[in-house]
Amino acid sequence: MITVNENFLKLESNYLFAEIERKVAEYKERHPDKRVISLGIGDVTRPLVPAVLEALREAIDDMGDAARFKGYGPYGGYSFLRDPIMEYDYRARGIDMAPDEIFVSDGAKSDVANFQELFARDSIVAVTDPVYPVYVDSNVLAGRGGEKVDGQWSRIVYMPCDKANNFVPAFPAKRPDMIYLCYPNNPTGTTLTRAQLQGWVDYARREGCVILYDSAYEAYIRTPDIPHSIYELEGAREVAVEFRSFSKTAGFTGLRCAYVAVPKSLKISDGKGGYVDANHCWFRRQATKYNGCPYIVQRAAAATYTEKGRREVLDVIAGYQANADLLAEAMRSLGLEVFGGVDAPYLWVKTPMKSWDFFDLLLNKAALVCTPGAGFGKSGEGYARLTAFGSPADTREAIARITDLAKDF
Ligand code: PLP
Repeated sequence: MITVNENFLKLESNYLFAEIERKVAEYKERHPDKRVISLGIGDVTRPLVPAVLEALREAIDDMGDAARFKGYGPYGGYSFLRDPIMEYDYRARGIDMAPDEIFVSDGAKSDVANFQELFARDSIVAVTDPVYPVYVDSNVLAGRGGEKVDGQWSRIVYMPCDKANNFVPAFPAKRPDMIYLCYPNNPTGTTLTRAQLQGWVDYARREGCVILYDSAYEAYIRTPDIPHSIYELEGAREVAVEFRSFSKTAGFTGLRCAYVAVPKSLKISDGKGGYVDANHCWFRRQATKYNGCPYIVQRAAAATYTEKGRREVLDVIAGYQANADLLAEAMRSLGLEVFGGVDAPYLWVKTPMKSWDFFDLLLNKAALVCTPGAGFGKSGEGYARLTAFGSPADTREAIARITDLAKDF
């Protein structure tokens, strides 16, 4: 009998979301009359904007016309999408980026999970704690986890982020090879200043590390001078790849489109004293394992860069930001400490009790669902993540219920 990759056995099922689901199902069974509102959803709720829908319809018509039909597309994506990405996301910010440094895909989750394939099996991975779990789990599957001891993997370097360090990770004591940074951050909703991110780029250049920079929530940045791209920082083209997604930017969580920027100046050691080009390796990887994001989806994504599309998409984001503002204000008026929520759709609330106890209190007393911070890592204990992706009406109703409950805090 064939033997399973032992690393699969090391990964438990996603305890956090399974446990939340189980508790919510149990509550609903006991209280069929109560309407549960989720402040835990990491998915958008507003529909696609008209500019995107128009582009989708036109692209569907193309596929039904022999003269305009599209089969396999270019591995890195069509130029009608790569060009506006380059123009609006990079050159408009003074960043040098060529179309063949951009690789369009069907999602940032797969990109951030797959990119580690470029690096040696024994590479050391550093992540912030709390963390978006995909960075850790994909490396555990690739054999870089070691053993799980007390909730953490022995070969992974964890960089704690909490209110004590203002959610800014310190450089690790032990030099890692790969560093995952996510800003604006999921789950904490916090950002790094230009100087802080420059510090990380300098560290990576000094120590010979690669930074895997996940910028899935870039569109939510409101504070002036917070970097929108890691390539705004000097030297980043030599050490960083950047992941972006249309999911939270333009409501593409169901449609699926993202991209990764891999500058040609990013070199990785060949282990024999020479170098290989990360851009070439990623092209080779994609050409081997992936046949590209659908034509109609790329057309839809391109529509978000038209004047109409940009306006409509920004309007949707502004709606989520208004929810975030309402939630933050309400939590603060109840005396709770709130982090994030300004440049991200996530609020990281300091809970007056343990994360799961706060979750239970909100569910059992107010029929509200949050995400316990402890589920994102050790340093998430004592926090809860609230999201701004609900409807304005649900957000207001949730605030009213929490306000009623505050006497129990
Ligand atoms: N990166 C982060 C930090 C995320 O929070 C998410 C989605 O929740 C993703 C990537 C995945 O994005 P996509 O929908 O493009 O796969």
